[in-house]
Amino acid sequence: MIIKGTKVSNGYAIGKVKVIHNQEILVSHKKVDDVIVEFNRVKKAVENVVDKIKEEKILVENRLNYNELRIFDAHMTMAEDPEILSMIKLNIEKDHTSAEFAVKKVFDDVINTFKASDKEYFRQRATDVEDIKRKILCQLLKIEEINLDTITDKVIIASHDLTPSQTARLNQENTLGFITEAGGLTSHSAIMAKSLEIPAVLGLKDVLNYVNDGDEIIIDSEEGFIIVHPTEEEIKAYEKKIKLKKVYQEKLSLIKSLATTTLDDKSMTLASNIGNLFDFEKALEVNSDGIGLFRTEFIFMDRPELPTEDEQFEIYKKVLSKMKSKKVIIRTVDIGGDKSLDYMRLPKEMNPFLGLRGIRLCLKHPEIFKKQIRALLRASIYGKLCIMFPMISTVKEFLEAKKMVDETKKELKKEKIVVSKKIEIGMMVETPAAAILSDKFAKYVDFFSIGTNDLVQYTLAADRMNEHVSNLYQPLNPSILKLIKMTIDNAHQYKKWVGVCGEIASDKYAALLLIGLGVDELSMNVSNLLYIKDIILNTSYKDLKHIASRVLMLDTEKDVMEYLIDHCDI
Ligand code: PEP
Ligand code: MG
Repeated sequence: MIIKGTKVSNGYAIGKVKVIHNQEILVSHKKVDDVIVEFNRVKKAVENVVDKIKEEKILVENRLNYNELRIFDAHMTMAEDPEILSMIKLNIEKDHTSAEFAVKKVFDDVINTFKASDKEYFRQRATDVEDIKRKILCQLLKIEEINLDTITDKVIIASHDLTPSQTARLNQENTLGFITEAGGLTSHSAIMAKSLEIPAVLGLKDVLNYVNDGDEIIIDSEEGFIIVHPTEEEIKAYEKKIKLKKVYQEKLSLIKSLATTTLDDKSMTLASNIGNLFDFEKALEVNSDGIGLFRTEFIFMDRPELPTEDEQFEIYKKVLSKMKSKKVIIRTVDIGGDKSLDYMRLPKEMNPFLGLRGIRLCLKHPEIFKKQIRALLRASIYGKLCIMFPMISTVKEFLEAKKMVDETKKELKKEKIVVSKKIEIGMMVETPAAAILSDKFAKYVDFFSIGTNDLVQYTLAADRMNEHVSNLYQPLNPSILKLIKMTIDNAHQYKKWVGVCGEIASDKYAALLLIGLGVDELSMNVSNLLYIKDIILNTSYKDLKHIASRVLMLDTEKDVMEYLIDHCDI
């Protein structure tokens, strides 16, 4: 039997199920005499909970990234929230209710408010509040919390929902994977599963009606489904998949330290796209030649307010210093389009992808932009910083953004803060206007990075998120190839370098074609980097140039694909 859900991490697992029941803790309405003693019990329980959360944070410190670790801080703040505590106190004083009853009542009100929100982010936070409530109640009632790190058999955990702290406590050695009925992509359990690299499928409706303790299942978190009571053939097929994945990964790990050069010694920069410090650690693990795109908007997302200058500075400093002499392209925040910030309360737009996004939003909100530029410039002395602006469509925009950098440099100088003299300033080429006028832009920029994800949607007028026009979303359409070629030639004429950081850089055929067209850098999701490196190491640049010149003569994407498949046989 196959049950479909939401895939939140990669990998496969085969194993026996261990069902975890997070039953509601029952609390009866009991009257108390001494309200002071009763409230002191709450304060003590909260103190113990905070200590417990601190312990949990230490447990996973090395496995989670900066933003994920902040979840624990948020939980501690929530447990100690003075407003919640004063409401609990009020409840105890007013009705002489027990500490347990007051805690349950007040937290349930908060949970229901979160659940009723029309914003997914806040709805998902209800589980976090539930987590705190349960912890405080367990302390008050002296109930042992379900501790997943004590599970000693290798099992697949099945539950209605896992709280973030339970997910963090999953013992990686013994947890083959986990499945839940609730939970979506943005739940904290999902985010943690991904970072902890535990195969997981969430949102499996009513799955606990179909699986019991000891049942055998397969998790396919590459596709987002589970197989209950798999047949022998299915088990064999998945054992093979697991084995093949392992063998291939071992082979790839052998090429990490090699320089990225083709068979005929053309060297390439193979960089990583990152969105947070966790991705960054992975980029370091695969020894990537640089960071080709740091999507800083992810530092701004999944949190209740804007990050401060110092918070940003620490992150940029860490990345720059660890990359040493390798280039780090940090893109200024690209909010708008599909990436919104609930706390900014931006007006709804009819066409968000054509609206206030990327550099447009930054120029309109200089207070946000300035803070980021200050953080970047302060961090610049720790490595080789390249600042990149997103969504540029006119030369004026680029110059305005650059002016902000120059002015901020002067400001910092006055404050006696040292800034590197070698910062490169470049831009994304992701609008047709930028590609068509790349000869003009090339005079002012230090580099271009072609963002094909957007360039394709704007050129073919096909929304990158709309499945109804996905047939028109053609990354290898000759129109795109022409814009890419034009950008590369114009950049090289002005001795500027060009990278590609859109998704196509990690596609085997597209990557080879881009190299043949003359790009200097390919930047991609870390998980594909060694795969592409392996291919580059086994290819001749001379051949690729020839292939690219032929491909440029073709009329349709289909022709391009067929030609590449026939001629890039690696
Ligand atoms: C792009 O548009 O190709 C790109 C890399 O930017 P993003 O996917 O973040 O819009
Ligand atoms: Mg883009």
